[in-house]
Amino acid sequence: MDSLSSKKYNKDFVDSFNGDHSGDLTSRQTPGVLYSKALPTAVKNPQLIGWSDDLADQLGVEVPSEDDVKVLGGNFVTPTMYPYAACYAGHQFGNWAGQLGDGRAITLGEWLTPKGEIWEFQLKGAGQTPYSRRADGRAVLRSSVREFLMSEAMHYLRVPTTRALGLVTTGDMVMRDMFYNGNPQYEPGAIVMRVSPSFLRFGNFEMLAARKDIANLTKLVNWTIDRYYPHITGEDRVIRWFKEVVEKTAQLIVEWLRVGFVHGVMNTDNMSVLGLTIDYGPYSFLDNYDPEFTPNTTDLPGRRYAFGNQSSVAYWNLGCLANALVPLFETTAPLVEAVESYQNMFWQKYYVMMGNKLGLDEVRDSDLNFINQFEQMLSTVEPDMTIFYQLLSELTSDKITDEDIVIHFKEAFYKDLSLDARAIFLQSMKAWRERINSNRISKEESLKKMSETNPRYILRNYLLHKAIEELERGENQLFLRLQLAMKNPYSRNFDEFFMKRPEWATQKAGCSMLSCSS
Ligand code: AMP
Ligand code: MG
Repeated sequence: MDSLSSKKYNKDFVDSFNGDHSGDLTSRQTPGVLYSKALPTAVKNPQLIGWSDDLADQLGVEVPSEDDVKVLGGNFVTPTMYPYAACYAGHQFGNWAGQLGDGRAITLGEWLTPKGEIWEFQLKGAGQTPYSRRADGRAVLRSSVREFLMSEAMHYLRVPTTRALGLVTTGDMVMRDMFYNGNPQYEPGAIVMRVSPSFLRFGNFEMLAARKDIANLTKLVNWTIDRYYPHITGEDRVIRWFKEVVEKTAQLIVEWLRVGFVHGVMNTDNMSVLGLTIDYGPYSFLDNYDPEFTPNTTDLPGRRYAFGNQSSVAYWNLGCLANALVPLFETTAPLVEAVESYQNMFWQKYYVMMGNKLGLDEVRDSDLNFINQFEQMLSTVEPDMTIFYQLLSELTSDKITDEDIVIHFKEAFYKDLSLDARAIFLQSMKAWRERINSNRISKEESLKKMSETNPRYILRNYLLHKAIEELERGENQLFLRLQLAMKNPYSRNFDEFFMKRPEWATQKAGCSMLSCSS
């Protein structure tokens, strides 16, 4: 075990690529470099409020000492750290946005775990960098708690994600206009230490392509493959790598859809080249099953990043990455083919996942229609997605009458069923039962599939909202309890969180809709 403040950090990215080493934190364009040195700006009084024990064990990190908390607050930079902000670009809401970069994230260094894996350690909210543009480089407690709890929750849900190791309050206040209505208020500041094998995004590659810096583009692609895809060798390694990125991205979206996650800001600068969920902002889980739901106020009225659009947006984003890689190829044909392979790959994975959610033994050709109609029913009835699937797995054969069945699902409904909705619902239940009865696996095996695929506890926005309100008052019971429950989302030990969104949370800011202002 090593401590955050005594460990030797590596800096392979820094050593491999051109950077701006001036340490100047003024917002600016930084042509020719892939990162800029950026020392964290010290905060008043860093206090540890969150720590991920299991992750720390996995990484070989000791429980934080006083010096380690200073590291977490950005107040102590050890001699082997080389803090920098990465320069990347991206497409935001479908438009080319030019240079973006880490505006409030600072990488401290890379850490070799006891298992020999390389992980990058980053502070989010540690002050300005050359990429902060007009913003302050800070994060508020609200958004930091959301990233800390949610990235860990996603990991335990078995969704690929960056992780969060520690969370500190800074003792400084940060001004935010939460509703974008000209009423800014001071909120407590906080910093998350997030960790990942890499935070490289599609946008890192797009930036080099936009600069026509083919030498560095080639170098970054090779560096990425060498480090994170070392099994890919040979002359055609770049296209094979890209195909793997396509596959990982398809898998990621399928996992999001499985658990009902809506990212909210799927810009290409928020797309990980390792296929991880990255940059937790105005995300949400679905409560009522509405494919058109977007949690991001900035995403209205277009709903580009709505739940049901996430697969096509990922495809579009992969097109942007492919475009950036064009200079590395003689013709675009292999890239086009790889991007196009997304569709099949996604649907293939998607139906397998849906088959598991529904407890099917396999997905037969005739099941595609059944699954589509089932989803149509969910969009019409809009039950609570998570509760619905739990109740589905508990629908025993003694529930025979229509009334029995509707009552069984009562807890999942947000509204009374219209006559039409009720008929559609009962029809789907009948179809499901018939299909389940034709399974060639036992009832137990079918239930096992369902319980492994359908989480019982998700980190709902209203729960986060309550936990944050409590933390702002200095109480951490709910925060700790949620942290524990989210480590066991498929268990049955935390049924105080097995509850649909309460009525009071329906219209409340932070409970259904969120802004990017964090
Ligand atoms: P996002 O879509 O939230 O991932 O952020 C888009 C861009 O805005 C990234 O370059 C961020 O680093 C930057 N950004 C967001 N919030 C801040 C902030 N408070 N200070 C500086 N930069 C920020
Ligand atoms: Mg981002």
